Amino acid sequence: MYRIGLGYDIHRLVKNRKLFIGGVLIPSSRGLDGHSDADVLIHSICDSILGALGMGDIGTHFSNKNPKYKNKQSTYFLNKVMQMMRQEGYRIVNIDSTLICEKPKLSRYRTRIRASLEKKLKIPKECISIKATTSEGLGVIGEGMAIACKAIVLIGN
Ligand code: ZN
Repeated sequence: MYRIGLGYDIHRLVKNRKLFIGGVLIPSSRGLDGHSDADVLIHSICDSILGALGMGDIGTHFSNKNPKYKNKQSTYFLNKVMQMMRQEGYRIVNIDSTLICEKPKLSRYRTRIRASLEKKLKIPKECISIKATTSEGLGVIGEGMAIACKAIVLIGN
């Protein structure tokens, strides 16, 4: 049996924060704001897996009101979500994702981000797709105020 799930996330870009995408530290004058490390790609992937399982979203399981998750590395959430998935008897078949970001240019870090996710997700990199696009200067993303990400996953048992 196969199930698919969709994930979407957006975080504000602010000064004095580090920028983590897919667990990779990206050189940038600004980073994403959030309760955790605000890794927009990992959050989207978590939501896609939870969506496929029909088990709510990342906020359901890891409330941003809980001080326990303050400045937490998003790898922690991903590990927990993968644990839930395995408990339900599923494995990841493949993931596709699109980062929407004006600056910095994320496409040049794609290989590193993919390698990082290969390690975290424990699936071959051929099953992990990371795409990066801009917002063509339009809206909050286009003005460089935020980074968004969409992810879709297929899981099977
Ligand atoms: Zn998030």
